[in-house]
Amino acid sequence: MTDKMTNQVHSEKETAEQELEALREELSQGGFGLEIFENGGAAEPAAFEGEPDEAVAGFIASMGQTGFSPFKGYDWKAYVPSELLADNGFSGPLHGVIREETQSIYVFDSPAAGGPIGWVFGSGSGKTPQELPPRGEGFFVEGEYENGALTLRLGCPAVRLPEESGAPVCAPWQYPSYQPVRLAPYDLAARLFSRNSGLLESASMLDCCAVLIGCGSVGSFAAMELARSGVGRFVLCDTDTLEIHNICRHQCGFDDLGRYKVDAVRDKILRINPRATVVTFRSVIQRVPEEELLPYLGRKTVIIGGGDNRASADWACKLAIRTDSAFVAAGCWTRAFAGEIFYWASGLGLSCYSCALGGLIDDERPESHAAYFGSEEEQESLAFEPGIAADIDFVTVIALKVALDLINRDNPDYTPRVIHYLRQYTWVCNTNSTRIGGERAGIFAHPLQITHNLRVHHDPHCPWCGDGREEDREM
Ligand SMILES: [Zn+2]
Repeated sequence: MTDKMTNQVHSEKETAEQELEALREELSQGGFGLEIFENGGAAEPAAFEGEPDEAVAGFIASMGQTGFSPFKGYDWKAYVPSELLADNGFSGPLHGVIREETQSIYVFDSPAAGGPIGWVFGSGSGKTPQELPPRGEGFFVEGEYENGALTLRLGCPAVRLPEESGAPVCAPWQYPSYQPVRLAPYDLAARLFSRNSGLLESASMLDCCAVLIGCGSVGSFAAMELARSGVGRFVLCDTDTLEIHNICRHQCGFDDLGRYKVDAVRDKILRINPRATVVTFRSVIQRVPEEELLPYLGRKTVIIGGGDNRASADWACKLAIRTDSAFVAAGCWTRAFAGEIFYWASGLGLSCYSCALGGLIDDERPESHAAYFGSEEEQESLAFEPGIAADIDFVTVIALKVALDLINRDNPDYTPRVIHYLRQYTWVCNTNSTRIGGERAGIFAHPLQITHNLRVHHDPHCPWCGDGREEDREM
């Protein structure tokens, strides 16, 4: 440090720009940070040896006074849950995301929605920075309640030189610089589903439950759409793990490879609604202890059969009948040239799955993973069945319109979308091209045809759906 430079830095007559120029020159000659902080930048107190260079100390002290800071020109805004603002005295980790490119911070009230970004020091919490999670190279948030009001500041562990000096130089030394943050409260319950208002009643939807049998292409898509619709409770059943070949038609991606699909889909649901309740079973539904399912079944529950074979769909339909839940099955045919939807709910005079489609049920393979309802021969060759997401999703989304109608059937303010039009058993055509679907594709008059006139068998003596059954079953 030359006298000339010291004079430069400390002269009150010099402008901030000249200070910066001096610092740039220091850094270009080898810098003053590394020799002080021998650990190369880990922001731990133990790594700090000796006092900072005078120029560094002056530079840090001048932050905010000269107008130069890593945040210069930034107007940081933090969206904070109203509940957190009102929770005077809260102390603990903050979860959320920090977006440098838009100078915005989103604080969540659940770790399910985002990773740790900082800490709120409660009064008397006794927390010291040493006890905090290690700070990374990036921004972090700190705050505390003062006189009943939460204040937050954004910390940056590295001082960055302005853009014009070339690539930003980070000196991740001990002293973070801080920038106050404007707080913008938000009410998650009111905001999250505000775009559904008038169409789906949020409060009622949060009580609804979806039991997903299978979390593959159909199940994962159903989970995302129902979460967006405001369904607040989920039960996920699937034995599979997510593999590379699943990704092209699954809602999860590379960061979920090797995970159980139920776990990956659960996290996706919580990314949409952090307050959702999601229960997972790495199992076929037939093996889940019934007492663990019962709390989630009832008139506001829809069981979605997607991705298993007809035997599991039949089993699930009977479970729905016993518990007065609704049931919707969605499946695709060969190459997803078309698909089929079946639904059941009490009080509509509908056939059970067994009566309607019993001739197609294969009891010998109750746990196979044939995701597609093909013929026996086809299933043998269907270790995997090609089918593009756009086709599978088209069938599934119609099944979901049915599901929304069924779980809202007791809500007098809800206007049904399709239930008065679609029959209990519906075929959905993606393409009638025989080059894709084979000869059977020719049964459809045109692409995108959706049937509304198929009739299924009804057995008046069926113990599940026969005449008078519903009266007999009253409990
Ligand atoms: Zn029946």
